[in-house]
Amino acid sequence: MSIADKSSKLQDTPTGQTLQQLFAEVVFNIPLNKLFHYSVPPDLRELLTPGMRVKAPFGNKVITGFCVGLTTIPSVYKTKDLMGILDAFPLADETMLRITKWLSSYYCCGWGEAIHAVIPPVVRRGAKEKIDIFVTCGKPLTAFEKETILQSKKRAIKQAKVMEFLFNQAQNTEIRAKELMKATGGTMSMLRQLERENLLQLEERQADAVNAQKGGAPVQHLALSEEQQAAFTLIKEKLAEPSQGIILLHGITGSGKTELYLQTIAKLLEQGRKALFLVPEISLTSQSIQRIKERFNNVAVLHSHLQGAFHHAQWKDIKEGRVDVVVGARSSIFAPLKDVGLIILDEEHENTYKQENSPRYNARDIAILRATYENAMVILGTATPSLESYYEAEKGNYTKIVLSKRIGTLQLPQVEIVDMLEEVRKKRGYHVVSQRLEYYMKQALSRREQVILFLNRRGFTPYIHCKRCGFVLKCHRCDIPLTFHKKLNIVLCHYCHAEAIPPESCPDCMANYINYRGFGTEKIEEVIAKKFPGYNILRMDSDSMRSHGSHEKALKAFGEGEFQILLGTQMIAKGLDFPNVTLVGVISADTMLNLPDFRAGERTFQLISQVAGRTGRGQKGGRVIVQSFNPRHYSITYAAAHDYEGFAKKELEYRRPLNYPPFGRMARIIFRGASEKNTEEKASVIAGKLKEIAKESNNQLQILGPSPAPVMKINNLFRWHLLLKAKDHQRIHDALLCVADTLKPTKGVQSLVDVDPYMML
Ligand SMILES: [Zn+2]
Ligand SMILES: [Zn+2]
Repeated sequence: MSIADKSSKLQDTPTGQTLQQLFAEVVFNIPLNKLFHYSVPPDLRELLTPGMRVKAPFGNKVITGFCVGLTTIPSVYKTKDLMGILDAFPLADETMLRITKWLSSYYCCGWGEAIHAVIPPVVRRGAKEKIDIFVTCGKPLTAFEKETILQSKKRAIKQAKVMEFLFNQAQNTEIRAKELMKATGGTMSMLRQLERENLLQLEERQADAVNAQKGGAPVQHLALSEEQQAAFTLIKEKLAEPSQGIILLHGITGSGKTELYLQTIAKLLEQGRKALFLVPEISLTSQSIQRIKERFNNVAVLHSHLQGAFHHAQWKDIKEGRVDVVVGARSSIFAPLKDVGLIILDEEHENTYKQENSPRYNARDIAILRATYENAMVILGTATPSLESYYEAEKGNYTKIVLSKRIGTLQLPQVEIVDMLEEVRKKRGYHVVSQRLEYYMKQALSRREQVILFLNRRGFTPYIHCKRCGFVLKCHRCDIPLTFHKKLNIVLCHYCHAEAIPPESCPDCMANYINYRGFGTEKIEEVIAKKFPGYNILRMDSDSMRSHGSHEKALKAFGEGEFQILLGTQMIAKGLDFPNVTLVGVISADTMLNLPDFRAGERTFQLISQVAGRTGRGQKGGRVIVQSFNPRHYSITYAAAHDYEGFAKKELEYRRPLNYPPFGRMARIIFRGASEKNTEEKASVIAGKLKEIAKESNNQLQILGPSPAPVMKINNLFRWHLLLKAKDHQRIHDALLCVADTLKPTKGVQSLVDVDPYMML
């Protein structure tokens, strides 16, 4: 007798047939990696498919869970009945169930949590599909007829306004009723009245979620350079192979990676398959998104600010096969696109691909996993490969394609490093703009060219202290110095967003020696405005670019020459392509370098390379000035020499003996709680247990810490952390499993597990 025979139960159907009883495997949105079994009542068994949400009794409540499988063998003897099914079709298909299962195991979270995280909230809520009303002008009219309608005595002023608005549109233009009413002050009943008079037509239909270009052929592909052509040939060969693998496309800035992406997508669509295109941040990549939309029909761009109904409609369009190309940020890797043949990650090294709350996944790893399940090709594109991807390519696991030349005759800009220590000596004091930078700015501006200045720090001054007693003004909820924002006249915590009025005297010793030190973008703006009167400065940081669409607007204005100087944070480091920018100034290359993070050097190199890439994109050439107090640090010197290989070799040399990624794997556990003592205690207990395990592992597993996190307190919660480091992930995984039970919250202390962490603060 087999196990199945022994434990399965029999059930009578209404027709008298005897069926084997069916059980649903259900997971819930809780931090627990456990399957629960429920019996499926006869009236539900025809309807239930894995991937659907179900209502199930849990404790003494009824809650929503996800059905992840069906079985005839329950794990427990007594099972409760499912109470209902919430969906008509599965929200997660088989691939998504596999991916989320892997996710929960790898990143140590519940399977239910993982599914919950990959289904957009609007879909879970089931937002109504949006119906819009579109207005078109009635029959064509002569100018005289129009005039008569507008002048008619019985016509109300607002009605005339509506008609005038419509007459001013091009023939056959359709306008959303909502927009028309907003522009003219008309009402819906007024529009209906005009429709009855046959002066306009109203049509109700679902708003299109997809960029289906009605009329107008897509823009033609550009001619490829010799280097691009060779790369494209190789990609096409790979696409034709049964297993397509992973391509690391290492192309310097301006080498035409985007054109290669686009032509590869076109090739793939010819095969009847679909493509996922991931970008680090939608709002920062409007230029490339525009190119994708011009090139293809049926493109869905997943914005995070999408409104409920629209987002839901778009999700359905993707799921039901009406979309060929999905463009989006990190979470788009879970888009319900079917038959994915290609996943592109542009700027694969960016840390925005890593999610910083549970599940703390990296979209790059999910892309590779999804591609394996769907037999798709992955292209990781970047000018500065992450050391992880570079190392995989070196080992031969990825195919490396290099684009080493800029398109046409364009050259990489010349980069000059300015030693700020020397500058301080020369000028007897610290000036945020060095003589060299000022000199080249004057030159560029006098030639009517444009300048980009980069500083990775917003606000006016990041540090307020008392010169008498040494007191530093910190957020009372976080262990972080407050930043002074001059325009708003507040001091602001960049962690918890608490704000206060700037003190005039020292809150500690009452002396009038309060000193505002350091500089952020706001202060640079003031300095530059004084030095360069008569030039328009555009500042782009998260303070000045709050409203939706402000990026696009600002960049458009800069592109049209309305501003001569663009000043900003990392927001302007990526993707911008303005031929008239001939000078880039990096105000401080040191902001990243001094972070307590083993990736500090890599981030510095990436940032300088990316920012430098914003110039020399036209025939006028380009120049970059990098200001630093560490002018001889290899991250800076290699970036200045445009030498990625040199940097990578040096950086790997540093990481290898320390077993840092890519040689080893890491996980970080953060403990946080309102009581400092309890937090420290919990960290010590877990560290103790892990160290026991490490001892048995023969030094294959290392435990670093516990210690207070570099940012010791955020939002009134104290923070401790520890690191697990090992040659391979499995060892870390096993150790985490061993302590999983003790990681549950106790005495108000939470523990957060971050596998392959990016944030070390
Ligand atoms: Zn003081
Ligand atoms: Zn704070």
